[in-house]
Amino acid sequence: MKIFNSLTQKLEEFKPLNNNRVTIYVCGITPYDTTHLGHAFTYISFDALIRYLKFKGFNVIYTQNVTDINDRDKDILQRAKEQNISWQKLSEFWTEKFLSDMKCLNWISPTNYLKASENIPAMLNLIQKLLDNSLGYIVNGSVYLDISKVSGYGKLSKLFDREKMIKVAKDFEEDLENPDKRNPLDITLWRASKPNDPKHIPSFAFDSKGLARHVSEALQAGRPGWHIECSAMSISTLGEQIDIHGGGSDLKFPHHEAEIAQSEGATGKIPFAKYWLHTGTVGYRGQKMSKSKGNLVMVSDLLKKYSQNAIRWLILSHHWHEDWEFKEEDLARAQKNVELVENLNLHLRGGGIKEFTRLMDNNLDTPKTLEYLLNLVEQNSKVELKKLYNILGFI
Ligand SMILES: [Zn+2]
Repeated sequence: MKIFNSLTQKLEEFKPLNNNRVTIYVCGITPYDTTHLGHAFTYISFDALIRYLKFKGFNVIYTQNVTDINDRDKDILQRAKEQNISWQKLSEFWTEKFLSDMKCLNWISPTNYLKASENIPAMLNLIQKLLDNSLGYIVNGSVYLDISKVSGYGKLSKLFDREKMIKVAKDFEEDLENPDKRNPLDITLWRASKPNDPKHIPSFAFDSKGLARHVSEALQAGRPGWHIECSAMSISTLGEQIDIHGGGSDLKFPHHEAEIAQSEGATGKIPFAKYWLHTGTVGYRGQKMSKSKGNLVMVSDLLKKYSQNAIRWLILSHHWHEDWEFKEEDLARAQKNVELVENLNLHLRGGGIKEFTRLMDNNLDTPKTLEYLLNLVEQNSKVELKKLYNILGFI
């Protein structure tokens, strides 16, 4: 099986680090908003990959996180304050909503589904390792990763130019103006609480619940940086090196680049992830779907009018690596296509598996595979059409 690896920018033969055991980490949601089609595209694309790997006999172990707390002032903390509820309540509400939307799309739950707020000791352990390895520094109780000490920083995003990095980092509110940092691009690993922090800002103290007491005394109570969360939860559940790390292509920099710097810096094991898979972005009315542009297409709205299989068909009719634009007529066509497949009553034999596997082995080419299924319908072929359909997660 071949798969496109963002790290090498090549189509590579897929070979797991450990025989037939495959470890996958996919960056999860920040739970303060509804699931839109862009999220669904990422998670259903990985769902198809995981189903296909299982079909090929691999033992897949899959971790996904919930960023219910991070170092940002905006997103979840700001939204909770606006709604006058706790960040825990807000997070629980939107996590449940996300999981129920995804369940409607017949999404397989990850082996480990973890909240950042419940995994802080793993993050502190990693931060301590980075300090021990002289890659991190503490100022006013906060910890930063010194990127000038990280070799090959930029190797995933291919952003080796500092100005370009700053431009992209600005979009992610990377706290570039922080005077405590040696370099504006240094990564915030731990953000110490300040005495004048507003009440709605949580603070994790080391002396409560036995939180990693062995960390440097210079650290103060606070909260973890967004990037260290994924490094820590990946390492604690899947090991120091993993096979596949996935996420939306907009996470390449700074998030995934930082994950590599932190994980490899702490463990010394290179590569942290052997294959980096990035899903394309979904646009609507000429622009990338985003909250700020107000052009979100919600999965729950689509489910009112179309079947879950139709939405899955629409998603898988676009290649996971490509950007695409949502058009309702494409979803209407997807609905017709699933009805064609589902209404066909065939006596089944095993002939189609070979072609199916050939197509899917080529970088998980779901668009061509779906075309192939439609051809089988047209030819009224006596193959195991329904079985192939189910392998892709249709019910
Ligand atoms: Zn992540």
